[in-house]
Amino acid sequence: MDKYIPKMYKKSILDINYDTLKEKNIKCLMFDLDNTTLKVHKSIPKKEICDLIKKLKINFKVFIISNNTSKKRLSVAADCFGVEYVRFALKPFSRGFRKVKNKYNFSKDEMCIIGDQIMTDVLGGNRYGIYTVLVDPLSNDELKVTGFNRFFENRKLKVLAKRGLFKKGEYYG
Ligand SMILES: [Mg+2]
Repeated sequence: MDKYIPKMYKKSILDINYDTLKEKNIKCLMFDLDNTTLKVHKSIPKKEICDLIKKLKINFKVFIISNNTSKKRLSVAADCFGVEYVRFALKPFSRGFRKVKNKYNFSKDEMCIIGDQIMTDVLGGNRYGIYTVLVDPLSNDELKVTGFNRFFENRKLKVLAKRGLFKKGEYYG
């Protein structure tokens, strides 16, 4: 059950204490794109998000890692941030994580995934053995495939809340 529970949970990527991640010796931050760093129906990220990621690049190697297959969408956003991206990452499977790990020779305990979905970002990261951070989605608008994942996520959330293990809106870490 704990593979569905993030190590850290914050309202948005703007609320994360990145010094804490640095103290944990994390060197590689992999951000999900849709509804984590960019609203689903927007193509250009907000300035405050771009500014944050640019600042993070001083202390971390930063990536956008997305299940989205659109090269155009990924490249426009990644260009705004000035970072590399992996599309078609197949989270919760390890394809995208492995790509980053192998290219830069990170160890798993130096890597962190930050995303808005339990069934892809958190489950994928926990299974792969890296640090996981969950944030709330930037908007209620979602892709069709995400609606499908949310159905399972909501069922999982009910069980986790019932057992007192995790509750949406109760931030920690
Ligand atoms: Mg997402």
